[in-house]
Amino acid sequence: MTLQDRIRKIAPYVPGEQPQDRDIIKLNTNECPYPPSPRFAEAYSSLSPADFRRYPDTEAHELVQAISDIYGIPVEQIFVGVGSDEVLAFAFQAFFTGGGRLLFPDITYSFYPVWAELYHIPFTAVPTDQDFRIRAEDYLGVDDACGVIFPNPNAPTGIAEPRSFVERILAGNPDKVVIVDEAYVDFGGETALPLLEKYENLMVIRTCSKSRAMAGLRIGYAFGSRQLIDAVKAIKFSFNSYTLNHASIIPGAAAIRDTVYFDEICSRIIKTRERMAQGLKKLGFVFPPSSANFIFAKHERIPGREIQEKLREKKIYVRRWDAPRISDYMRITVGTDEETDRLLEELGRITAC
Ligand SMILES: *Cc1c(COP(=O)(O)O)cnc(C)c1O
Repeated sequence: MTLQDRIRKIAPYVPGEQPQDRDIIKLNTNECPYPPSPRFAEAYSSLSPADFRRYPDTEAHELVQAISDIYGIPVEQIFVGVGSDEVLAFAFQAFFTGGGRLLFPDITYSFYPVWAELYHIPFTAVPTDQDFRIRAEDYLGVDDACGVIFPNPNAPTGIAEPRSFVERILAGNPDKVVIVDEAYVDFGGETALPLLEKYENLMVIRTCSKSRAMAGLRIGYAFGSRQLIDAVKAIKFSFNSYTLNHASIIPGAAAIRDTVYFDEICSRIIKTRERMAQGLKKLGFVFPPSSANFIFAKHERIPGREIQEKLREKKIYVRRWDAPRISDYMRITVGTDEETDRLLEELGRITAC
């Protein structure tokens, strides 16, 4: 064996670009266009340098307590991690490495196949229907499946399914963990949280990166039965006891408690999304109904690549994948009202010629 042979070859997840130029209208990674709650800044400036001498709280109690209080779910049923990406990676290791295929939709968060490869988990990307909808029946009675994961609303389509849809999949897989990734649920989806009381096999995952406007802080969290939460904790403590740092835990907890501000920015984004949808429709774009903070749209005539490039020349960044079925679609994040006006103006020019 050569040195080359000993080095693992793996195709990593490719995140959306993070340009440092402040003039860019950045609609490519679903960040929130508004700042976090003012409580965040207050808590951040009250941090004492002396506290950084010590390791952070391994259980992030302050953060877990804040999440428990606002959702009304006991602390024993909550796990927090460095972004929901870390929480998801731990969950994959805890629930899906024991043999069998992991099932998820073909059009979905492109990190799922990457983690599956990383942890040597066989998987099947189950085709969504012609309208990109997930079909619940495809996830029932699959004998060699080890579990199911999907976002709801789905990404990058923005399509939300009702709680009854999630329940069908849970009820049909009592011996497997079903993960519902609710990264975008605050923008109009129906949460699966009430099903926690009835289903021991449900894990719901949330993030502070989108609706809570703190992508830079890196906080994600999961809800589940005690059994599932304890299993994810065991993975974390087998990996790194100090994942979340003190400077994330304290301001993050303070911001999460500000539910008034949170409700306000979510409804503002939903309002802008509806206006953006009308504008896109007028310009000849087609898209599934979005319950997220983005719209997944293609033009009736002009290829996605061409539109993306022209927008980029005007310093407007949107996301697109050169993948089967979706290469003409752009996933456009809902920005501020001014950003949306600029976007529609440029798209008006591009589609006029
Ligand atoms: C953004 C996103 C995440 C990751 O969020 P982080 O908390 O920033 O790691 C997870 N799942 C989906 C579907 C997302 O869109």
